[in-house]
Amino acid sequence: MMKEQFLQDVLLRLRKVLPNSSATIALHEPTMGGNEWAYVKECLDTGWVSSVGSFVDRFAILLASYTGTKFAIPTVNGTAALHICLQLADVQPGDEVLVPAVTFIATANAVAYCGAIPNFVDCSEQTLGIDPDKLNSYLSKISSITSTGCWNRSTGRRIKAIVPMHALGHPVDLDPLMEVCQRYKLEIVEDASESLGSFYKGRHTGSFGKVAALSFNGNKTITTGGGGAVLTNDESLANMAKHLTTVAKLPHPWRFAHDQVGYNYRLPNLNAALGVAQLERLPQLLRQKRQLALSYQQAFQGAKDIQVLIEPTFAKSNYWLNALILTDVSSLYLEDLLHLTNSEGIMTRPLWTPLHQQVMYKNSPRMDLTTTESLASRVINIPSSAFLGGDNG
Ligand SMILES: *Cc1c(COP(=O)(O)O)cnc(C)c1O
Repeated sequence: MMKEQFLQDVLLRLRKVLPNSSATIALHEPTMGGNEWAYVKECLDTGWVSSVGSFVDRFAILLASYTGTKFAIPTVNGTAALHICLQLADVQPGDEVLVPAVTFIATANAVAYCGAIPNFVDCSEQTLGIDPDKLNSYLSKISSITSTGCWNRSTGRRIKAIVPMHALGHPVDLDPLMEVCQRYKLEIVEDASESLGSFYKGRHTGSFGKVAALSFNGNKTITTGGGGAVLTNDESLANMAKHLTTVAKLPHPWRFAHDQVGYNYRLPNLNAALGVAQLERLPQLLRQKRQLALSYQQAFQGAKDIQVLIEPTFAKSNYWLNALILTDVSSLYLEDLLHLTNSEGIMTRPLWTPLHQQVMYKNSPRMDLTTTESLASRVINIPSSAFLGGDNG
């Protein structure tokens, strides 16, 4: 197919779904359609704007209940939540942590904050997440299992944990992945930053690992402005998360005693107020996002050399970001497609630049990353705000 013809065809199909608008259509915008104003105003009226308050507690309870986990500990952002999660998984300086090569930079940065080293693994074309088969054959080649855990024979370092990330909201194939992790004694820390509202075989993502991180950044499915949460079913880990995010302060009516180097990672009540209101609307937002995904799928039926990414058969995805996948041939037009759509007021973005290509991580250990590199040159994210899916509340 000729380049111009291909580009115009894609633009036409996107226009079938998107509203006629002179303003740019963002990749992902929040909407404030419920109690957001009322709850934030309540904080302002009462003065409970900072790190304690009833909305923080309510937000935590609602998150745990929605995700089917026993405990949720709100944090100042998703990256902070991941940082805490890795510490709860006992990741130590000098350990290696398996991280997908295709993810937002925060996944690897949180590992680096612990003084640990990311070891990059390849993804599956179906989920964009970690490929359990490739992981298994990689570990069988590089590692030895001893009574102290899994050791990388080529680097001499312990491989302590793995961070599956549910990319664009699509769940990783967790059953085979967990089997591999059990065999290699790896702790699972889920990066569920993008997957609030996504379920694997009926169970919410973020409830499978030892701990998980959520994000409520402004571009996520629901937002608190900035925010995140640690999820876990383990009460002692939940207490530790609370302690670590509260500068490790020992309870006392007035004395400032701390028993380790903690962090100021709590989510302010002001942000939690927004979160409670957003969470009340989550079911509606998910319906709208699913409708939007369906509209894209219909609009791209029969398209040549381009496909819409759909949820894996074993999953119910939140469709956080919709994505188009080009073929090897049409991938030559990716840059042109980005130029055209963005100049036409339709915001699109490529997938993340793979992490092993970032300067900080260029010397990190890795497996063969063929699928990652291929997808990075073929995937393009398209506008995915819930309101684009209509008003089917
Ligand atoms: C959003 C996101 C995070 C956390 O981001 P914050 O902006 O710190 O909340 C972490 N990992 C992934 C994959 C993300 O998409």
